[in-house]
Amino acid sequence: MVVSPEQQQFLDLIKETEFSRGGASGGGVPGLKPFIEGTVPEEFKTFYSKEELHALSELKGTSRDIEDRMKVKLTEHYLKLALRSESLKNLVKARPEETADLAGEMDPSNQNKYSPIPGLLHKYEMVLLYTAATCSSHCRYCYRLDLFSKKTGKEMANIDDVAAYIVAHNKKVAQHNGKDPETGEDIFPIVEGLLSGGDPMVLPNKRIARFLMGLANAGLRTIRIGSKEMAFFPYRFDQNFFDMLDGFHALFPDVRLLLITHFTHPDEFLEKDEKGNYIPEGKGYKWLNVVRTAIGNLSDRHRYISMENQTPIIYKVNDNPTSLRILQKEMYHAGIGNHYLFQCREIEGHKAFAVPVETSWAIYTESQKGLSGVEKQARFVMSTEIGKMEVIGLTHGNVIFKLMRSPGGAQTQGHIIIAKSNPDALWITGYQDRIVSDDTGLFKEILNPVKFEVKK
Ligand code: SF4
Repeated sequence: MVVSPEQQQFLDLIKETEFSRGGASGGGVPGLKPFIEGTVPEEFKTFYSKEELHALSELKGTSRDIEDRMKVKLTEHYLKLALRSESLKNLVKARPEETADLAGEMDPSNQNKYSPIPGLLHKYEMVLLYTAATCSSHCRYCYRLDLFSKKTGKEMANIDDVAAYIVAHNKKVAQHNGKDPETGEDIFPIVEGLLSGGDPMVLPNKRIARFLMGLANAGLRTIRIGSKEMAFFPYRFDQNFFDMLDGFHALFPDVRLLLITHFTHPDEFLEKDEKGNYIPEGKGYKWLNVVRTAIGNLSDRHRYISMENQTPIIYKVNDNPTSLRILQKEMYHAGIGNHYLFQCREIEGHKAFAVPVETSWAIYTESQKGLSGVEKQARFVMSTEIGKMEVIGLTHGNVIFKLMRSPGGAQTQGHIIIAKSNPDALWITGYQDRIVSDDTGLFKEILNPVKFEVKK
């Protein structure tokens, strides 16, 4: 990466903190083994019961091996929170049901179709970069299974290649006045980048800075950082990280940053009393100090960074309106926008986590009762292969979907699909024989995707 002397000086001044997220390596408790062998600290030995560990051990080495689907990983911070919360336990705890039915996709929404170079997805007017192949804990419902298990051969992004791709694409858009020279369809310049993974916040500050700088030098105006670290290990948001952000902002004052948080349940950030109730404070509830401080430090930098939250609705984790109502209310009042509530993706093993689409929609709708207009900005969507599809609602036995985004361009944005209700449907495929209206045949595209080869 070619950098100016000022940019090199910024990189040279970045400081790193040595974090210990738990486990022997300090990166978090890795795998089931420490639980099975009883080498986790005493306070965590009750996390799995003897019966649960026995059932999971029995599956080791069989076609139903839980860790063959996805490795277990946990920070000690999250373990402590999960010990006082059934919901959080269900988010990170391995269960035999995960591999009881492995129906689903290794690469849900056929993401690889939108990958022009390794480690990069180009959708809409933005690019997504795979920056890390892990998170500091693993959500069992994770839709990046393939990245973690390395079964689809996905690679991490090389920032030089990504920057060159953005520059070349934007040059093409300008040269052809926003029309694809081959198809004549609208094409849009890339204006946003998303650092994703895995979780970019497991990387050192300097690596994150290089990604930010590469994207900014390529001309992007907005850069998102997608991270669940505020829930898994909020200590990561320390002064060295904020200094790096401030240094980046000084060099690129026109670039807006956006932290996309992934709070799934209020138990991830609220204090509880000895009876397990949230503690009233002011007009809301008392937050965990470490999270409140980290969010406050980011809010203080609102001139160049903002925050939005998004999460899927997951069985036995947050599939209740009260938790989601508190989540949305507390997010808004902490200065974090409510962006999306998602339907659980059709990953391999999704039947252990997914709530039927129409039930999720009802939970989402119920959760927003009593919220003000600004508190209830979240929309309930499915990330399908043809773009983000909002579930608008149910009427007269029909479900109405609206295409919010179309990955290749804006041609189909706003398109409506109507299907007959199927209360058991876990994904869009559950409506395949029930389409009432689909003017431009989008549904056919979802049901007959172009597949790529999965490495075994
Ligand atoms: S934070 Fe996101 S990428 Fe990481 S394990 Fe959870 S769902 Fe997967």
